[in-house]
Order: sequence, then C-alpha cells, then structure tokens
Amino acid sequence: MTETLSRLLLRLSEAEHPVLWGRVAAPHFGREFDRLLAQRVLVEDPPTDTWAVCSDCDCDLDARPIQQIHGQRVAVCSQDHRSDVHLSDDDIRSYRIDPALLVGLIGKASGLNRPPEAILPGVWRLANVFGSQAVFLALSVSATTQPALLGMLTRAAQGTAATLLVPRGMPEESRRLLEDSGIHVVVTTDVMGNEAPFALEAERLVPANMPKLRLSRGRLAVTLFGTEGTLAKRPFDLLWILAEAGGTIVERRIIEAHMWSQPVAKTAVNDAVRDLREGLAAIDPRSENLIETKAGQGYRVALAPGEMVLNKSG
Ligand SMILES: [Zn+2]
Repeated sequence: MTETLSRLLLRLSEAEHPVLWGRVAAPHFGREFDRLLAQRVLVEDPPTDTWAVCSDCDCDLDARPIQQIHGQRVAVCSQDHRSDVHLSDDDIRSYRIDPALLVGLIGKASGLNRPPEAILPGVWRLANVFGSQAVFLALSVSATTQPALLGMLTRAAQGTAATLLVPRGMPEESRRLLEDSGIHVVVTTDVMGNEAPFALEAERLVPANMPKLRLSRGRLAVTLFGTEGTLAKRPFDLLWILAEAGGTIVERRIIEAHMWSQPVAKTAVNDAVRDLREGLAAIDPRSENLIETKAGQGYRVALAPGEMVLNKSG
C-alpha cells in the first residue's frame, strides 16, 4: 500500500462530491477506517446495481446492469461476453466522503486552536498559527477557482499573513493569482505528517522567508521568529525606533530625543535597552543577540530590513 488513507481521501476530495469505491477502500479496511465510519467522515451508500460500460463499447448504454449469473455478480456487456466483469462484494460498495467533517478531522488531528469555519463553498478557515499566520483550507479543485476566493481570504485574514492549503490539482493560473497577492499557497498533502494521520505539520504552514520580527503598534505586539508576545510601552517604543532604522545604528541622543521630551538621566537609555532585551527574551530566547550595542555609537537591531514588518495600525 503506497498511499495512506488520509492522502487518498484528500486526493478524492479534489472532486466536489467525493466518493470512495470499495475496491479502492478495501486495502485500508481496519480500525482507522472504522473510526472514519463512526465519525461519519465516510458514509456508506447502498450497493450499486449498475456498472460503467466498457471503455470502447458500442452498446449505446449509459451504464450496464449488474446481474446474478450462476451465483456470481456480473456486469454484463451486451455486445461481447468476453468484456463481462465479475464483481466482488467490495466492488459494489461505495462511501461518500463528507468534506466538512474531513476538514474538522484535520483541524482536530493538527491540534489547531479552533474548529474550522466555512467561509466559502469548499473553503474553511482553520486557525492562526505562530501568533499571526491565518491558515485556510480549500478541499476541491472547484473551490480554488471561485472568483470570490481572493477577496474573501484577504478579508478573513484581517490584515495578517495568510496561508491557503490547496488540492494538488489546483490550476496553475489560479495559484499564481493568489501568490501574486501575497497568499502563501501550499499543497495540503505536502504538509501532512506521516506520523499522525490527518495531522498538518504546523511549522510548514508558514513561508520559509517569514519575517523574523513583526511589530504591531496598536497592540504593542511583537512576533519574534513566529512567536507572538507583547511588550510594555517603553520597550516597545524603543524597539520601534530601532526597527524603523532597518538594522542601521541609532545613536543614543536620537533615542533620547524620540522617547523623552525632557532631558533624562544618562542611564535612561541603558535601562530602556535592558528592559527591552528582557521583554524580548520572555517572548523568544533566540532574541539574545537581537539588540546589538555599538560601543560609543548606539544600538541596532541585528536584522536586515526585509526581515522586519512594522504595522502601525494592527
Ligand atoms: Zn461492452
């Protein structure tokens, strides 16, 4: 068996009304399969009584009837009995896949912090990961080509960065349209772990070049290497001044002038820097060398301008 059950269901769900046929399902029968039936992610339909006609038949039928012949189930070809197909019990079984319950299962297995919420036909909002990244999932190919998709994602993300998980069969053109607008597009099965079925690997839901530092002034919020926290007003203001300088050195007197309207003690800037370093360390220990001291000159954030995002209103 090469394809896991979770990957199989996702692949079939590229269709709008996904169906799993018994012959394809049979190698996956077992405890995990039974659990999906119990959760009604899979719902068994009555056995089929018709079968697809042979591929190159001139019988003019839409489907051929299934008949009992000598105690055997046979899809009979009216033109050529050599094309008759003998069917097993599994062959005539089928299971409908419930897209909403499948998405719910993915969210739960991934330990996401909220139940998925449908925002468009076939599109769900899954969660926020790493403090801010909004993650959405489109199950069917038709869901990825809806004209309303981009506008809806942008609105639902509420100003944060967005990742859309998509089926492998998404048209390239639709994918480019979203990527050009800054949506991070990822094929769902590419970020599905092999350990726990249906679980997404959260760290693979964000772009590799995600900003290392993101500041949201309205909330005094700092997202550092993907972890969000908040700072007190004074350390935040200092970080903002340094970040605005885009990694260049900011002199002490500039910092003083920005932060205080009156002359302050010589140690005021040192104290503010110490508070800032402590605040950042509480958010992520990797911040240890983030605020650099340049002796006799000033301070800088040890990041490149492209690694920082400053958000005035958020
Ligand atoms: Zn035929």
